[in-house]
Amino acid sequence: MKKDEGMYNVIVIGAGTAGLVTAAGTAGLGGRVALIERNLMGGDCLNFGCVPSKALISSARLIQQIRESKKWGLDGQEPRFVFERVFERMRTRRAKIAPNDSQERFESLGVDVFRGEAHFISPHEIEVDGQRLPAKNFVIGTGSRAAIPKIEGIDKVPYFTNETIFDELKEKPERIIVLGGGPIGCELGQVLARLGVKVTILQRASQLLPREDSDVAEVLQRQLEREDVRIEFGAEAKTAARNGNSVRVDCLRKDGSSFQLNADALLVAAGRIPNIDKLNLDAAGVRFNKRGVIVNEYLQTSQLHIYAAGDIAGSFQFTHLADAHARVVVRNILMPLQLLRQKTETAVLPWVTYTDPEIAHVGFGEREAQKSNIAYDLFVVPLEEVDRAVVESEEIGFAKVLAAKDSDKILGVTIVGARAGDLIHEFVLAMKAGIGLGTVASTIHAYPTFAELARKVGDKYNRTRLTPRAKKVFTWLYKRARR
Ligand SMILES: Cc1cc2nc3c(=O)[nH]c(=O)nc-3n(C[C@H](O)[C@H](O)[C@H](O)COP(=O)(O)OP(=O)(O)OC[C@H]3O[C@@H](n4cnc5c(N)ncnc54)[C@H](O)[C@@H]3O)c2cc1C
Repeated sequence: MKKDEGMYNVIVIGAGTAGLVTAAGTAGLGGRVALIERNLMGGDCLNFGCVPSKALISSARLIQQIRESKKWGLDGQEPRFVFERVFERMRTRRAKIAPNDSQERFESLGVDVFRGEAHFISPHEIEVDGQRLPAKNFVIGTGSRAAIPKIEGIDKVPYFTNETIFDELKEKPERIIVLGGGPIGCELGQVLARLGVKVTILQRASQLLPREDSDVAEVLQRQLEREDVRIEFGAEAKTAARNGNSVRVDCLRKDGSSFQLNADALLVAAGRIPNIDKLNLDAAGVRFNKRGVIVNEYLQTSQLHIYAAGDIAGSFQFTHLADAHARVVVRNILMPLQLLRQKTETAVLPWVTYTDPEIAHVGFGEREAQKSNIAYDLFVVPLEEVDRAVVESEEIGFAKVLAAKDSDKILGVTIVGARAGDLIHEFVLAMKAGIGLGTVASTIHAYPTFAELARKVGDKYNRTRLTPRAKKVFTWLYKRARR
């Protein structure tokens, strides 16, 4: 059948992670699938998100290590690098990954790829570039974009978002204002500071990374401040204006006081909004709100044959969740009955902020557990207690584990420190498989590894099992053995 003829099993709108995984999965199972993308194949993660940001973070980490080389017994030295070349390297790394998401690859998998902006014309048909395409099922995977806060004059000043900074920042600015102290603002703020830019982060909340417990966010705050990042908490930008070649932002603190920031560049990283406006969802009868398309636990919209996956589905915004959504959607579309369909599950959903130190999280943090009235025991192991972290001079941070009160059932884990994003997965698997801290403790971990952090948390738990009464019995047994 020709590309634009006849009925599709599935039409996927958006070739980001959610759309790509859905399209590849459906085609792999023998379905006839069309994938529509209005911009770059790969969506945010590849082009304007995870991949370029992590590539820059990698260079920035090395630059910082050279700057701090005395820590490793070397002569102190200033790193020598060309700002633009660090960005060039990021683009080269990104280009290395890009073929995985390319139109050619997807066509080779049997997916019909259309380049253009899609909108619904009915619950059973979409239009792209004047072509009407019908399908039995649709998957909306249109993702999200940077929200531009309501700041007087913002439309008259140049600013970067994640969609422009990786390709359009052509030379090193002396100073930059980063609007937003969430994961994106903190990651990019630290990168730019390490590349020698004077960074100010403007954060409306009273802490960085508001989703994390405050003791966790404070470790990052102290690190950023050590690296000369200025952070303004409880403050909002009110007006923005050009000031010669630079940008002036007038800010208001919660206590009513005001201050002014001047910089050569402005980066807006103040939240995300869903890409729904161009979809004409009303024509499809699909309900949505300001967070995205409204879905049930099977990821079906108000029109049960239309699904949504990834950022647009209105919950957490992570590539791995977009991927997990897509797998659920592929399966659910194939199932003839609702009772055979799979629910999405986010109880064990890890996430990582790739700052230095990294911050990795799964399940409950303390604040959330307290809010939900969940009784817990807390086990904290500082990285200083992990020999490998000490010999690597990487001992900033800790693991903090919440276990169900008087039990070893893991409720949530936050790890702050080098390699936290990799270390968290032992706990992720334990939570998913229902493995408790006792088993983690009795699992032999190679010495000396960062992974011993998990075993040490297990040891801490085990020590709480040694009640004074049990200890008395053991003491008696030892005494008896000495006779
Ligand atoms: C700077 C930054 C760093 C990030 N780092 C991480 C990280 O380290 N780890 C992590 O897990 N997540 C990270 N994220 C989040 C991650 O990028 C997103 O969660 C992920 O890309 C969501 O995938 P998606 O498929 O839902 O949407 P997207 O990747 O946004 O893809 C949606 C696609 O749909 C297209 N589209 C939209 N409307 C239409 C239309 N009407 N017609 C046709 N096409 C359309 C868009 O052009 C886009 O290509 C980061 C995000 C940013 C911004």
